[in-house]
Amino acid sequence: MGPSNSHGRVLFDQVLNSNNRSRAQAQGEGATSSSSKEKRFLCMFCNKGFSCIQKVEIHQRVHTGEKPFSCTQCHMRFTQAGDLKRHQRVHTGKSLFACTHCRKRFSERSYLRIHQQRKHSTL
Ligand SMILES: [Zn+2]
Ligand SMILES: [Zn+2]
Ligand SMILES: [Zn+2]
Repeated sequence: MGPSNSHGRVLFDQVLNSNNRSRAQAQGEGATSSSSKEKRFLCMFCNKGFSCIQKVEIHQRVHTGEKPFSCTQCHMRFTQAGDLKRHQRVHTGKSLFACTHCRKRFSERSYLRIHQQRKHSTL
């Protein structure tokens, strides 16, 4: 099958050419379209769109009531790390009473005293 050989070579050339062309197209697409930022992950509760699955999972806690982020300085819990950070400014913004032994912080001097008495046996 002589002709098939040359045909194969033509195909090969075409593939090479089309590869170059598609590569150029892909680059062009990457520059022009924002398909990578498409919000294709939808919340199963309210259908709100998100760009990645993690964001959906975090958002869905709004609906499920899950609060995995707890404040280390009080009893409050939060659905998002950002919410916890924002909340903790309440603690860090105040002049806090920090334990000199373990750096645990307290909103009131009396709490710090109790802590130091119990944990470190000091005043
Ligand atoms: Zn939702
Ligand atoms: Zn707190
Ligand atoms: Zn301490």
